[in-house]
Amino acid sequence: MAKKKAKKFYKWWEDEKEEYWDSGLEAPIESCSLVKCPIIYLLPEVVGQIQFMMKKYPKTEWAADLLGEKVDNDFYITGISVFKQTVTSVTVKREEPSCKGAIGVTHSHHTMGNNFSGTDDDYPNSNHDLSGVISISDDGENLIGLDIKFTVRVETPCGKKVRFDEVPVRVLFSLQEINLKGKITEEKQIMPQAGYYMSAGLTNYL
Ligand SMILES: [Zn+2]
Repeated sequence: MAKKKAKKFYKWWEDEKEEYWDSGLEAPIESCSLVKCPIIYLLPEVVGQIQFMMKKYPKTEWAADLLGEKVDNDFYITGISVFKQTVTSVTVKREEPSCKGAIGVTHSHHTMGNNFSGTDDDYPNSNHDLSGVISISDDGENLIGLDIKFTVRVETPCGKKVRFDEVPVRVLFSLQEINLKGKITEEKQIMPQAGYYMSAGLTNYL
């Protein structure tokens, strides 16, 4: 067993497969009317980190754990963590386990387009609730030169997983969007009776 565990971290897709079968994950169902499609939010820093990696490794794949949190149905990605790996133009061999706090994984297709391959579907996409693929593009707006696609598995109320492809991706202005959630309630201002400030000697407020 110890030998098997050690091996797990030295292969990438092969061990994803092993993990997949070992974990007993069920294949996702196609749709569930009770679950809406999630949205993926990226901090601008994440876009910068990915752009840096694409520039540094323009002709090989690379992969990284995705850091962040899941809030309600949506995923907020706050950073990437590049793990030890050996890469070629079409493979990534993972050489250490997922880091603490990882909520998913992503990998690069450099200039090969952002469609998941059959291998991607069988291994990373089957083992992670959030899996992304990145390619170089000429026409991204906020994503400036990147084509990013995510596939996401979301748990249904009855405990199955439903898979969403081509999940919308938005770039967040700031982490404040997560921190602020539910904290400020706006209500209508009720103005006091005329003369209130006058009697209080606060004429400047009239
Ligand atoms: Zn791939």
